[in-house]
Amino acid sequence: MHFFEYRNGELYCEEVRVKTIADEAGTPVYIYSARTLQRHYNVFKKAFAKTKPLICYSVKANSNIAVIALFSSMGSGADIVSGGELFRTKKAGIDSKKIVYSGVGKTLREISYALENDILMFNVESIEEIDVINSAAGRLGVKAPVSIRVNPDIDPFTHPYISTGLKKNKFGIDIRYAIDAYSIARAKPNIRIIGIDMHIGSQLTDVSPVVSALKKILKLMKELGQRGINIKYMDIGGGLGITYKDEKAAHPERYAGEIESTLKGSFDGTLILEPGRVLVGNAGILVSRVLYRKDNGSKRFMIVDAGMNDLIRPSFYGAYHEILPVHKAAQSRLVKQDVVGPICESGDFFAHGRSLPVLEREDLVALMSVGAYGFSMSSNYNSRTRAAEVIVNGSDYFIVRKREINNDLIKGEQIPSFIKVRSKNA
Ligand SMILES: *Cc1c(COP(=O)(O)O)cnc(C)c1O
Repeated sequence: MHFFEYRNGELYCEEVRVKTIADEAGTPVYIYSARTLQRHYNVFKKAFAKTKPLICYSVKANSNIAVIALFSSMGSGADIVSGGELFRTKKAGIDSKKIVYSGVGKTLREISYALENDILMFNVESIEEIDVINSAAGRLGVKAPVSIRVNPDIDPFTHPYISTGLKKNKFGIDIRYAIDAYSIARAKPNIRIIGIDMHIGSQLTDVSPVVSALKKILKLMKELGQRGINIKYMDIGGGLGITYKDEKAAHPERYAGEIESTLKGSFDGTLILEPGRVLVGNAGILVSRVLYRKDNGSKRFMIVDAGMNDLIRPSFYGAYHEILPVHKAAQSRLVKQDVVGPICESGDFFAHGRSLPVLEREDLVALMSVGAYGFSMSSNYNSRTRAAEVIVNGSDYFIVRKREINNDLIKGEQIPSFIKVRSKNA
């Protein structure tokens, strides 16, 4: 469900013509619908009305501070994976006591930064990390609140790059060693154990892997209880999927129902959820202009002004994104074509052999459902300035990130003095 729709053949985001935004902000441009974001958050929250969990929006899905602030204004906390994300959440006004910090490679500096900001808890992913957190906390004279991210060895049946709860994945501490890890953490003077954590993967369409993992976690929690280690927070991660094409992703109601019935009577602390994609995925589009068409005799190409640097999901995961013309012609013949970007890589594509109308130069296309892992995974490859981001609210829209300019590309770079710059244009 989202608020992007055609009216008289013109694509709208809420009450605003997509073309109006593209003409003002230029292309490529990411457009987010505030109403869609709010709706998704409310549906998710309502689904869990019984357990009243702490929802920690997973910032890496879409890190724009306007998006984070919108969720924050609705009461959301944040799941962060870096010091940079902590910085963003602070700018966006997220209460630090609603921040959980995951990630296998937290640096000492990042850990100290998070301790100074008094976050809710660290989701610890290795035994060595326990040591580092303990000494950082000691130096600051505080006790670090910690949960252990357990790797339950469950196959989430998703793309291999986004499964995270299998033994072969780098994430978490193998469930067989979890008790040892808790015992080690308990013995540290500057660590306070408060939680248990898992996150088994992303774009999960079925709830059953989550339930299987949850059962393993509950069993472990019981064993911990017998050893006098009591768990106040159970963080079960994010990962609920969305429909990109024809996947039948579980509705939040079903996801919540199965989780709540699994937990019933077994856990009376605070449940933490870390949704990312399900909140933002369908709430964003990437609008791009057609640059050129060409036909090599056996294949037709549509070359657009967005590239894999703007949206890497098709190249990286083979992800499918629906592509819609922003202006739908009354009569349009569909022709199979590859939709590609300007980047000097054959991997720079958005679709292969997709049936689409034959568009003209300067026509606009919208890549749908790119609100998650879209802009946040973008780069400057090929020295392309990154796209603008716009948020629509009813009949208003706001540029929430300016398009980069060439000077942004070389920010922080310099030519050392031993190299003689020859041209006077430098
Ligand atoms: C990426 C991530 C999430 C969010 O995943 P989605 O599939 O976007 O919901 C949640 N928790 C952790 C630890 C993550 O790394």
